[in-house]
Amino acid sequence: MSSFDEERSAWLRCYRCWSQNLEIQIHYDAIRRVDPETGVPAEGIDEVQESVVQCLDCMHDQPHLTFQDDRVVPIEDRWERMVAGTPWVASCTVTVDQDRVESCAGPEAAELLAYGALGEAGVREFFAHVRFHKHDEERIVVHMLVELYARSIEEATDVLEDAARGQLAITSLAEESRPPAATGDDLH
Ligand SMILES: [Zn+2]
Repeated sequence: MSSFDEERSAWLRCYRCWSQNLEIQIHYDAIRRVDPETGVPAEGIDEVQESVVQCLDCMHDQPHLTFQDDRVVPIEDRWERMVAGTPWVASCTVTVDQDRVESCAGPEAAELLAYGALGEAGVREFFAHVRFHKHDEERIVVHMLVELYARSIEEATDVLEDAARGQLAITSLAEESRPPAATGDDLH
């Protein structure tokens, strides 16, 4: 057994409540020829289109885990920080070119603004709560409360800076206590 297998319990758990009670939703996509005699689709390879690992105890998505080939594996530059880290809450603004935001009105505005400001991490890994936004000529200033997991204030700052798709200004950054095991305490 490789050390990778031995260490599986380190990362194969919920990053919030450390439960190992996980499930995965896998969406497959397949195109197959239809047999003209029988109507039966030919054998084919299903491609995984999207997968989300979720904790059955606190019901949160697990963005530090992904599905590869036939099993769940950790995302290398993310899992240690999330599993060993604590939640940090940042009050911040990100100023982006307006063409980075698909739409700033309507029911999906908050998610599109979070994606425009912080990219994939803003909608998958962080709890990004958009408080409001302002237009400044060709740019949009997105005001947010962001919860993310990190092992230190420096790491939390680095993660936010890496994710920001425009100029980032952090007004405050405070460490929160880790949620107790197996309870959901959502910032939303
Ligand atoms: Zn959990």
